[in-house]
Amino acid sequence: MLGTRSGGRGALYAQPLPEALHESSRTADLVVVGAGAMGGWTAYLAQAGGVLPDGRTVGGGRRVTLIDAWGAGHPRATSGDETRIIRAAHGADRLYTRWARRALELWRRHEREWNVELVLPAGMLWFAGRPDGEEAASARTFTELGVPHERLGADELLSRWPQVAVRGDLDHILYEPDAGALMARKACLAVAAAFQRTGGSYVVAAVMPGRSQGGRLLQVVDRSGRAWSADRFVFAAGPWLPRLFPDLLGEAISVTKQDVLFIGPSAGDRRFHWRALPCWGDGDAGFYGIGATEAYGMKVAPERPGPEFDPSHGERVVDADSLRLARDYLRRRFPALANGPVLETRVCQYERSVHGHFLLARHPGYENVWLAGGGSGHGFKHGPRIGEYLVARMDGQPEGAEDGDEEMRFRVGPRLPPVRDPSTPTDADLF
Ligand SMILES: Cc1cc2nc3c(=O)[nH]c(=O)nc-3n(C[C@H](O)[C@H](O)[C@H](O)COP(=O)(O)OP(=O)(O)OC[C@H]3O[C@@H](n4cnc5c(N)ncnc54)[C@H](O)[C@@H]3O)c2cc1C
Repeated sequence: MLGTRSGGRGALYAQPLPEALHESSRTADLVVVGAGAMGGWTAYLAQAGGVLPDGRTVGGGRRVTLIDAWGAGHPRATSGDETRIIRAAHGADRLYTRWARRALELWRRHEREWNVELVLPAGMLWFAGRPDGEEAASARTFTELGVPHERLGADELLSRWPQVAVRGDLDHILYEPDAGALMARKACLAVAAAFQRTGGSYVVAAVMPGRSQGGRLLQVVDRSGRAWSADRFVFAAGPWLPRLFPDLLGEAISVTKQDVLFIGPSAGDRRFHWRALPCWGDGDAGFYGIGATEAYGMKVAPERPGPEFDPSHGERVVDADSLRLARDYLRRRFPALANGPVLETRVCQYERSVHGHFLLARHPGYENVWLAGGGSGHGFKHGPRIGEYLVARMDGQPEGAEDGDEEMRFRVGPRLPPVRDPSTPTDADLF
């Protein structure tokens, strides 16, 4: 029988302790709801400050409160898995390519500053079945933007990574050497801890919008009646965002079950460790994966969207079909792992926006509320860049100041239903 991964693994993964709650910490300049990749980095950069590539400073000098229902990096959160890929390849999309490069710079800078390993520099292989597919478009974008990459033939691939099998089914392979894996759950904890060290208040509570006045939200409240007031709020609630704002986002973001398997290599076989095998993506086959970290086997995940999923109560047990499909795939591409045992499984969820873009926008019904979400299966790596963008916008940077019209993709609209008066769900709807 397949099991789900348990949350705790000793001191390394211990949650930063929520501080004792004093009345004074109930009023802040900014309240951020959600300590995943998006909310954690936004809270940290708002509290600690940051420097944009053009030298402008953003954030800092604020009293920020970060609130999470279960705590940073918990297993229900989309950011709560062990690893996530960081890669710049995004076909012809220049904004996400630039953002991923900037995010990588920020991840690396902060892991050095915080003295914690968060980036595993594994590289990434993109298996291309066609000469002119997404991989070729990514290579063109890389050339334009100066992103290191190599185009490999099957022979070159096999001479460098003989554990990969090619059976005449690949046109070429795009190799992205600067890509790699992020230690996701550990990173959420590291960001929350750094946030606290720089003076931020971190609270474990499940909150929802409370009183508002004149188009401004005044406070968030929990079920016991505790309230946190602030000048501004960011809701970075991942898959819970449509529940918090059902009128606005109920149809804009859907939440789907995503299965992940960790397959164990034979004793003494290091060929599938991340140091020996880059992360990989196989668009045509609909699979991607990450080489084994010390504690886990090779991560193998089908890219197909699963059924609708309840992030609070959904049972985190993978479908038998996912295992069958993964084994079929491994037999073709990584035959030495085809019969390897499943060491761990993980059920996560995508919070897919209607167009696959992030939502990083002011709430149309509250002038002092910002929304961050719609990760759509690719948001984790961008956490620091998303935080930087949102903090700059809250500092007054106009939309489009950095990326022109390309930033319009982050708006609420135009396929979203019209905004009615912001209505507030009850905690029964939320959790
Ligand atoms: C299987 C899978 C593979 C993926 N692979 C990649 C990858 O390789 N690379 C990549 O970049 N991205 C990847 N992603 C996407 C990425 O993980 C997400 O885009 C990202 O983690 C979303 O972060 P978030 O902060 O928006 O949401 P979350 O991490 O879910 O954080 C939201 C937080 O808000 C809290 N919250 C919600 N409601 C409330 C409330 N009312 N009160 C208080 N707290 C609340 C929750 O407890 C939670 O901690 C993948 C996703 C999945 C599912």
